[in-house]
Amino acid sequence: MMTFREQLLQLIAEAQKIHREEKSLTMRSLKVIGELELRRAAPSCGMSVEKFARHIALTKDQYLKRSAASRTLRFIPEAKPLLEAGEISLSHLALISAKITRANRKVVLENIKGKSLREAKLFISRVTPDGELLPQEEICELKLTLTKPQFALFERAREVLAAAGSVPTDAEIFMKAVVDLLTKRDPMRKAERAAARHGHRDDDLRSRNNAIENTVENNSAAETPPKEGPTIAATRQQQNTAGRYIPAAVRHQVWLRDQGQCMHMHPDGSRCQERMMIELDHIDLYCRGGEHSASNLQLKCRLHNHFAAAAALGNEWYRQRLEFVNSVRDS
Ligand SMILES: [Zn+2]
Repeated sequence: MMTFREQLLQLIAEAQKIHREEKSLTMRSLKVIGELELRRAAPSCGMSVEKFARHIALTKDQYLKRSAASRTLRFIPEAKPLLEAGEISLSHLALISAKITRANRKVVLENIKGKSLREAKLFISRVTPDGELLPQEEICELKLTLTKPQFALFERAREVLAAAGSVPTDAEIFMKAVVDLLTKRDPMRKAERAAARHGHRDDDLRSRNNAIENTVENNSAAETPPKEGPTIAATRQQQNTAGRYIPAAVRHQVWLRDQGQCMHMHPDGSRCQERMMIELDHIDLYCRGGEHSASNLQLKCRLHNHFAAAAALGNEWYRQRLEFVNSVRDS
């Protein structure tokens, strides 16, 4: 009959033996998968990566991780003893495979060994291809909860982005979507792009705004056609035919001039800080003949635009409400 201590020692010895074997098997698996990858095994067998992975008794994720790790090992053989010694893991090697270069491989290896995967991820996000280290940025964490169909869309986005070469992280997918959205929808960016297209800088833009406004005013009095170029002619034409539609050129001018922020001034002379739900407000009310010119338009938040309009139209309730809002914001 074995004592408890003898049983324990035997189990420990068994665990050591199995895990040494496991490690040696993993190293062999990496070597074979590396060779398979060099021969582009999956397509050569006419199989998808997923099918091929199953064919050699791995999951797709296991296969992708090991082939990425084997690429890293081929590129930095110094990593092999670290892997064998357990100072870095397969996941570490897979993580760095897309970012590693001749110039940064030493500094990367030095800085990820012995580190958690999370720390390694942070480091690899800061190192440049030249091996320089970017200053650490402040990190904000965002937790997303998605339904299955929404998650499927997210994964589809990953596939689409992966077509560019490497598989993007969640943060990369998210930021690409945000940047695309802002490029397409941010009125401030649209205005800046429009200004850049017309080849004038901010200073020029200001004097140009004045020129356009003067022209528009002059033209309402005189019959002479505008001389300042096609933009103004087009603007006036659109204005005449499109009713409530404010021409893009005018919209852009106002957004740039007011820098995307509500122009309402509180009684203490400070400006409303609102940058959400920003609307174009006619200083001279549109319904009373105010025109769509930059000089007659300003940015207002929904609150100030709506209340101001209602108050101006004689709605006593809104007038009182506006007074109340102002007094609250002052205090
Ligand atoms: Zn406001």
